[in-house]
Amino acid sequence: MTELNNATVSFADLGLPEVLLSTLTGMGFENPTPIQEKTIGPLLEGRHVLGEAQTGTGKTAAFGLPALANIDVKLRKPQMMVLAPTRELAIQVAEAIEEFAKGMKGLRVATLYGGQSYGPQLSQLEKGAQVVVGTPGRLMDHLRRKTLKLNELTFCALDEADEMLNMGFLEDIEWILDHLPEQTQMALFSATMPTQIKKIADRFLTNPVHVKIAAKKESKKNITQLAWKVSGISKNTAIERIVETYDYDAMLVFVRTRNDTVTISEQLERLGYASAALNGDMNQAQRERTVEQLKNGKLSIMVATDVVARGLDIPRIDLVVNYDLPGETESYVHRIGRTGRAGREGTAISFVRPREMYNLRHYERATSGAVNTFELPTIQEIGLSRIERCRQSLVTSVADKDLTAMREILEKMAADSELSMTDLAAALLFDKQLKQPLQPKEDVRPRRERSDRDARGRNDRNDRGSRDERRGRGRDDRDNRGNRGERSERGNDRRRSQARPDVDWQAYRIEVGKEHGARPGDIVGAIANEISLDSAYIGQINLNDNHTIVQLPKGMPKDAFNKLRTVRVRRQQLDISVSDAPVAAVARKPRKERADRQH
Ligand code: ADP
Ligand code: MG
Repeated sequence: MTELNNATVSFADLGLPEVLLSTLTGMGFENPTPIQEKTIGPLLEGRHVLGEAQTGTGKTAAFGLPALANIDVKLRKPQMMVLAPTRELAIQVAEAIEEFAKGMKGLRVATLYGGQSYGPQLSQLEKGAQVVVGTPGRLMDHLRRKTLKLNELTFCALDEADEMLNMGFLEDIEWILDHLPEQTQMALFSATMPTQIKKIADRFLTNPVHVKIAAKKESKKNITQLAWKVSGISKNTAIERIVETYDYDAMLVFVRTRNDTVTISEQLERLGYASAALNGDMNQAQRERTVEQLKNGKLSIMVATDVVARGLDIPRIDLVVNYDLPGETESYVHRIGRTGRAGREGTAISFVRPREMYNLRHYERATSGAVNTFELPTIQEIGLSRIERCRQSLVTSVADKDLTAMREILEKMAADSELSMTDLAAALLFDKQLKQPLQPKEDVRPRRERSDRDARGRNDRNDRGSRDERRGRGRDDRDNRGNRGERSERGNDRRRSQARPDVDWQAYRIEVGKEHGARPGDIVGAIANEISLDSAYIGQINLNDNHTIVQLPKGMPKDAFNKLRTVRVRRQQLDISVSDAPVAAVARKPRKERADRQH
């Protein structure tokens, strides 16, 4: 390749045919990215390519364009195959290739992945797809069943090879590559080059051009990285504040467990936001639908785990929130890379517990960028912004709606009741803001140590879960979930009981329970804070579906009692009352023997 210094190479210079060039122009691809610049030429010439590059560097076009250029559309047999680690990535690659091939009349792409019935996949193949994109497992199935025949294959790409390795696909990949026709041109792309991938390259690539794009650190420069130190208010409240006040187009929230994707997404949905969970429990169709809805704007928030969000390319995403930090720095870089796609601006906000702060230095090093402190809007600021939004919506109504009838009704009301317009307006406003108060109250601070421990207990379990998820095993997560809550509850009790003073206990009933999302920590925190009660004086907590029985010292002062009535946990008023639940049995017995559902 001859290349003038500093001259920009164009797609045309690389030798791509006109039919692709005009599509690229239409797509707004002005110039090739570095990996495209280095691989398109050699691939067009038939060379094998070994490419090392991070996500977001434009690999799909780097192999997709030259491979398409060599396809004979009239031959209705698979000529190009792409192996991708997950269904999402397979679909994404297939969609990109279909778009590149818009000008190639008669070109069809079959997408083959697990979790979908064979019917539609067979019909795609029978219609004569020249391009096949799939996950290793399902591709292997089709090859075994002879529903996929590769005798006309001329090109095969392994996309995100290291990820396929991580997911346990090594043997499947080798099996598939062993079944390719002798002359198949190979392209292998990977963000990293572990030994097993090198071995695959040595074995299946012939005299490859090795292209390495240095981890482009500036590529994250368009992403503003922020960290909120978890303190004062819970992560739950924090996410609500961000959702309410941050000016985002689409938001991706990362959490650690599948269960949390649902809980948090539902929490935001209840507040009226278009939010959905994306996790490995969902079937293929649901996952696709969710991703599509985020793409087309039907959803504005998606709450996901690392695994399912891998490689997502949705340009609308301009805010990534790390509700839980990822296990590895690499995942952090990947997560925040879901925003700032194709040179846009993006922001990433991470919730960082005090003991996790050291991670920030790793993140800064990995991204060559600064992670700055982020302060959540205060409750007063939230109030002001609600008032302003309310005002705007009223002004808009006055401007846009025909209020004649309403005015008449209002005037008659004022006259009939001898009230001023301000009184009536105030009453209307009061009712209007009940769900979202214009003067919101501070949520109570969660207990520090407790929530940390809970989080840790959770992580252990989930790490296992996510590894299994990667392998695609049908693990019974439901079981896991049930145990989890119980475990952390028990942990709380044990810790508290160690230092529990010798007092006379009284059982109290509060009107918040599991179905409101309350956890023992929330309740302890609320009570302890509101009436300045040392948590040692909070006895056993029995969470039920819609209420909780909690043991407190006998003879609570009246004003403390009254105060607790109005305290809210998870937006539910405690509305505390004395309960006749048996005290000694409940308060002293170890958790095991206590039947939670007794009450
Ligand atoms: P990777 O596979 O390396 O993660 P993708 O192929 O998914 O990267 O490309 C990332 C994003 O960049 C996509 O939105 C894609 O449309 C866009 N893109 C790729 N190449 C170019 C280009 N030459 N010009 C503009 N945008 C591009
Ligand atoms: Mg890719």
